[in-house]
Amino acid sequence: MTAFWAEPDYDDHELVQLVRDRASGLTAIIAIHSTYCGPGAGGTRFWHYPVPKDAMRDALRLSRGMSYKNAMAGLPMGGGKAVILADESKTKSPEMLAAFGDAVADLGGNYVTAEDVGISPDDMVAVSKRTQFVSGLPVSGEDAAGGDPGPFTAIGIFHGIKAAVEHKLGKTSLQGVHVAIQGTGSVGGGVAKLLAAEGAKLTLADIHEERATALANELGGEAVSSDAIMGVACDVFSPCALGAILDDEGIARLEAPIVAGGANNQLARQKHGAMVAERGILYAPDYVINAGGIISVTLEFLCRQHGDPCDINEVRKRIAQIPGRLKEIWEESDSTGVSPDIVADRMAQKLIGR
Ligand code: NAD
Repeated sequence: MTAFWAEPDYDDHELVQLVRDRASGLTAIIAIHSTYCGPGAGGTRFWHYPVPKDAMRDALRLSRGMSYKNAMAGLPMGGGKAVILADESKTKSPEMLAAFGDAVADLGGNYVTAEDVGISPDDMVAVSKRTQFVSGLPVSGEDAAGGDPGPFTAIGIFHGIKAAVEHKLGKTSLQGVHVAIQGTGSVGGGVAKLLAAEGAKLTLADIHEERATALANELGGEAVSSDAIMGVACDVFSPCALGAILDDEGIARLEAPIVAGGANNQLARQKHGAMVAERGILYAPDYVINAGGIISVTLEFLCRQHGDPCDINEVRKRIAQIPGRLKEIWEESDSTGVSPDIVADRMAQKLIGR
């Protein structure tokens, strides 16, 4: 058996912890990649992994992505991530969330958690009963900062898509720009609504087909099957479901000059960034474009720790900086010939002292 630290996704992580609580049935992995910029911060994913090794891979890759994301967003946080290994029926219990909260508490503030796929703001409330190192807690009022990070992530991606359309297609308006969105959950659904409001043409897909169809009907778009979405001829392909979709086969299927979406770890392997670039496709590095949610939850967390109200204008101001960061990456990529993912990785590694 390969030593765990010889795994291709192990990147000098500071902590990788298996959490097992027999009484509640909790099995989770908490990974902290780097605390160079601050406590490891990143959400908790609740997912059924038919191959448990994939859960470890997710924890390792997603926590490194959080180090890069937080550093590139200028946040005083390092990178961490947790995955809870759900059973096939994805049964979640209050006891399980409590045990998970205890595990986060035991890390004494080295890891701060929030929502990710499969975890709701209510779940975070349950976790917060056991630890203060949690964010993304529900807030009331339209203009309240904090809470579910999904809508803030969606705003950042919307800004990023606009920047990509301008950079690649020379268009300053989204009117008639065709965007194909994979995954119409919290992030993808939010992006779809923002795009529709600016006149974009939408094609949507979700493994829960009724979800994509309902949203397409509401926004005047078209729904296609989740098998077809990557091959839709469009201006922007926006992956907003799960990661690793940009592999040999996925890249070959793309019929879009731009890939810009919210899913974490879109590139299956590092070589795939160059493959996307070789096809002449502009790629928005995922952890740069999807930082809106972590910007919100981090400011919410820091304000709560200091007993201050969280200012939504500060959250908006920082999210509005995402397009500028993307442009810097694309311009450097254009002038050096290095693919945008590598340009971004190098910038991020420098920021986390690696
Ligand atoms: P979500 O669970 O609300 O939505 C995900 C959607 O994708 C679901 O509707 C699901 O049915 C669908 N889906 C799953 N596999 C699919 C497939 N193969 N084809 C089509 N649809 C599929 O999750 P979310 O919060 O919207 O997150 C989406 C992605 O964005 C994830 O990769 C997540 O890690 C990433 N992300 C989320 C946030 C956030 O703030 N929520 C922040 C940064 C990154």
